Amino acid sequence: METFDKRKKFKAILKKNPLYIILIKKLKKYYQKKYFFYLSHDKDKAYLYLAALESLKAFLKGEIPIGCVLVSPEGKIFKAHNLKETLKKPYAHAEILAIKKACNYYKTWYLKDFKIYVTLEPCLMCFGCILESRIKHIYFGYKEKKYGFSNFINFQNFFPKIHIKNFNLSDIIIPIKIFFKLLRKR
Ligand SMILES: [Zn+2]
Repeated sequence: METFDKRKKFKAILKKNPLYIILIKKLKKYYQKKYFFYLSHDKDKAYLYLAALESLKAFLKGEIPIGCVLVSPEGKIFKAHNLKETLKKPYAHAEILAIKKACNYYKTWYLKDFKIYVTLEPCLMCFGCILESRIKHIYFGYKEKKYGFSNFINFQNFFPKIHIKNFNLSDIIIPIKIFFKLLRKR
């Protein structure tokens, strides 16, 4: 059976285009700066930039660069990035992996009063998992035009108690744009 692991191809392209590695390093510094800047007065934005930093880890592994930060009521942070290709699991999305970490730590599936921050709008699977874990605050950096849950669900009518906010920060999805631009290169 043919496998669909794009990581090797991506890493080879990245090697041939070292300027992009420098660009990612610059982006890392930029996200760190934004994180520390917002930490004192806008925690939600700070955590989104922390998720962006996490997405860069996925990028360097040849994974679609999506990062997630899950914050417990007492402020404990669980970070994860997309590892679908590495783990060879269709459900190894950043959100699922962050939720898994928190569940393992607290030994419960019940994550009420947690807040989840994702660089990109969660897919239907992740949205379902977020609902199942009773997380009521969903914040994301940018809309996902094709697979984002809001393309399928009228959440404002069905889930009035859930706080969902798209921060519309185009700088947070720069790694995704670079990732697909590089993949199109020969
Ligand atoms: Zn997902």
